[in-house]
Amino acid sequence: MIPTTIAGSLPKPDWLAEPEKLWAAWKHEGAALVEAQQKSARDWIEYQESVGIDIVSDGEQFRKHFVHGFLEDIEGIDWNLMTTMGIRNDRYDAQVPTVTSKVRRKGSVHGDAARYCRSIAMGQLKFTLPGPMTICDTIANAHYDTRPDMAMAFAEILNDEAKELEAIGVDVIQFDEPAFNAFTTEAATWGVECLNRAIEGLACKTAVHICYGYGIQENIDWKETLGSEWRQYEDFFPALNGSNIQQVSLECANSKVPISLIGLLKDKEVLVGSIDVASRTIETPEQVAAVLREAMKHLPVEQIVACTNCGLAPLPMDVARGKLAALGAGARLLRAELG
Ligand code: ZN
Repeated sequence: MIPTTIAGSLPKPDWLAEPEKLWAAWKHEGAALVEAQQKSARDWIEYQESVGIDIVSDGEQFRKHFVHGFLEDIEGIDWNLMTTMGIRNDRYDAQVPTVTSKVRRKGSVHGDAARYCRSIAMGQLKFTLPGPMTICDTIANAHYDTRPDMAMAFAEILNDEAKELEAIGVDVIQFDEPAFNAFTTEAATWGVECLNRAIEGLACKTAVHICYGYGIQENIDWKETLGSEWRQYEDFFPALNGSNIQQVSLECANSKVPISLIGLLKDKEVLVGSIDVASRTIETPEQVAAVLREAMKHLPVEQIVACTNCGLAPLPMDVARGKLAALGAGARLLRAELG
């Protein structure tokens, strides 16, 4: 009852990459880099298991960024043709590469990383991939007629990668779609359709993470403009509930998303974000349990998974560790209470 997991990234230690930064540069190259990434992933997996996180992940220790880390190995993308593009509906600018011909997966992208994590994790393992719509919002298009066309091409590639991860023994494959709430109308139509394509034929559990972004200043400023109640999800939750995805991850801790909206996901398991990633204050177990209790008013307890709001990458290492421990303790507290 009420298993625990994390939404995405974890901080990288200062011996692996520059800390407290997104897109941080690596401190090693070649084989030394892989070794350092593996050590960091192992540390995080063991730590998660020690504090009661049931479905663990590498926390993106093997990639610089959750989108570009996947795209680096895909053919059809010109990394010399970098464009400054307003992403997430112009919320912030990013330097992005350009799709110049049909995209193709040359071979495995995250297979080695997943195999390594599988060899370490004692229980269930989750692996995250960028969602098709978010990829298309983080890359310039100079080849496909439309964005949905490009998204579907990426969905096919993601499906091949996901099938490989499943064969390696990954238990949950999660697609990260923070672009969904920047483009809610499109999310309800081709966004969900592409997700369905990305998970076609998978027998493992599948999830999508949607969110209002990392706790970085651009997102904090943007959230200020959204009003007192964030109801954007209402636009596409019905479509998402009708999709084949089994789990939906969203932020609920200190969030202005009315928790009642999860009632629109009645056929899904909901990964209830109970850890605020935009604050350095470590939650108490009681605070975590309180968020989960609110969620239980709108969904049966069997459909609730305790999770973080989003990735913890920009946070200091000790804060992130404290927050994971609070998540584990909060879920334990609630389980004990529920008997
Ligand atoms: Zn997120």
